[in-house]
Amino acid sequence: MHRCIYLAFLLITAPLAQADLRVFTCEPEWEALAVEIGGILVKTDSATHALQDPHYIQARPSLIAKLRRADLLICSGAELEIGWLPQLLSKANNPNVRPGNIGYFEASSFVPRLDVPASVDRAKGDMHPQGNPHIQANPHNILIIAQALAGRMAQLDPANADRYRQGGVDFLERWQEAIAAWEDRAGVLRGKRVVVHHKSWVYLQDWLGLVEVATLEPVPGVPPTANHLSELLRMFGEDGDSAEYIIRAPYQSDKASLWLSERTGIPALLLPLTVGGSEDATDLFSLFDDILDRLLEVES
Ligand SMILES: [Zn+2]
Repeated sequence: MHRCIYLAFLLITAPLAQADLRVFTCEPEWEALAVEIGGILVKTDSATHALQDPHYIQARPSLIAKLRRADLLICSGAELEIGWLPQLLSKANNPNVRPGNIGYFEASSFVPRLDVPASVDRAKGDMHPQGNPHIQANPHNILIIAQALAGRMAQLDPANADRYRQGGVDFLERWQEAIAAWEDRAGVLRGKRVVVHHKSWVYLQDWLGLVEVATLEPVPGVPPTANHLSELLRMFGEDGDSAEYIIRAPYQSDKASLWLSERTGIPALLLPLTVGGSEDATDLFSLFDDILDRLLEVES
């Protein structure tokens, strides 16, 4: 008898032990943010990991199945995922998370977007026609997005609304403290000149006062060409312009970086662009710790 009551109790309480909000994210930074805010209330999956270029992935069946069950889809947007998300959405056929519905959260729509082109020549292959989509590289953007996201989660799961709001408040408090500490450390980086592989870092540059002087890609999304690299070598070679770093993300080939670095003496540096992009970048806090550690290590 007691056993029956116990089993009945388990059956009644089992659903409570499950997450209340199924979150599917396009990029790992938004998965990390959803967990910071929602904690055990959320079950998360990310379409991409830090060693994949979020511009290009395959709409695999396992991703379609996860998106089909999601209550909330969080993506950077600004056409970062244009190559695969529309197909994934159409195959998943989940109206809750379609753009325009409250289950779709486009992070870039909440922050001031940089590099919005006056006109776009798609024939040249520019992959940032809506402005630069790599918004996570400035922690002030994450601050704004966290506030909006906590509100959206509360809206989608009203029974736990207070817990999401509180999760948001707690995160913001810790995040603001972290930003102040990062800014204390980063002062010496202001004005440093950087060559970047892809325009992945404009928000980081804007935050830290780094100056982008060249890109290894001739146009965003077009891999470095021999011609373009020779031009850079002329620019930064002997008696040429100076720069402090050649920066690339973990999913970019190191070939062009190292080629230019060897010939110019400018240090080539890998920076994690999102959570999981280096051994140390295990959450949003350690992501920015590690970015600064790496920049400052070259500096010292
Ligand atoms: Zn890009």
